[in-house]
Amino acid sequence: MSEKLLVNPIECQGHGACAELLPEMITLDEWGYPIVDGRPIPPALDRDARAAISACPTLALRLLRS
Ligand code: SF4
Repeated sequence: MSEKLLVNPIECQGHGACAELLPEMITLDEWGYPIVDGRPIPPALDRDARAAISACPTLALRLLRS
């Protein structure tokens, strides 16, 4: 089973906390909204990915399991 990050663009308000906690997989566009790496989360980044999800104030970031 692999897990990927998914952002709900309607709920996201561009706070940027996710990109601070997981810069390896999330960058911000010029308006401060996240651009998420769509590849499976590497095991080494699993903890940081969960921290980024927890830090999102609008619950816009989640895991997609496949
Ligand atoms: S922390 Fe949440 S609201 Fe902020 S940019 Fe990331 S996904 Fe959007």
